[in-house]
Amino acid sequence: MTTATEVASNMHAPMRTCVGCRAVRPQAELLRSKLFHVGTDESADKEQVLPDQSVRTCAKRHGLRASSGRSAYVCPARACMERAARRGGFARAFARKTPPVDPAALWSAHGEVLAGMIDLLNRSGGTAAAPRVQRLAALATAMRAAVGRVS
Ligand SMILES: [Zn+2]
Repeated sequence: MTTATEVASNMHAPMRTCVGCRAVRPQAELLRSKLFHVGTDESADKEQVLPDQSVRTCAKRHGLRASSGRSAYVCPARACMERAARRGGFARAFARKTPPVDPAALWSAHGEVLAGMIDLLNRSGGTAAAPRVQRLAALATAMRAAVGRVS
């Protein structure tokens, strides 16, 4: 059952559409990807779809920067990730042609980035980080549960 408090907080939470299944869910429950330039080259073929937080967690990816202000949101479900990659969901979200997205690679990148962010927030400590850690941990749990369902 949904409590009145939950309804109220959901009303205020920004809602986004999954580019795989088109379900509308609170932004915090979705995996957010962005289109990045990899390297210093401006050419479009050096673009890659990566988790939104890649810049913070992948210091070794030199020259990584977002090449579009838009984001693509996907449910923490493998089926949604694969549907989005297969049916041009990412291109629609970024409103432009995107390089091919490998759903398995993007899925595992999201898993790594989530783990990295949780680790980063835990180490930076402070109770202010706790709600974010909780949200990220919930996403990571949803991803693990989704993997279990893939046959
Ligand atoms: Zn979905």
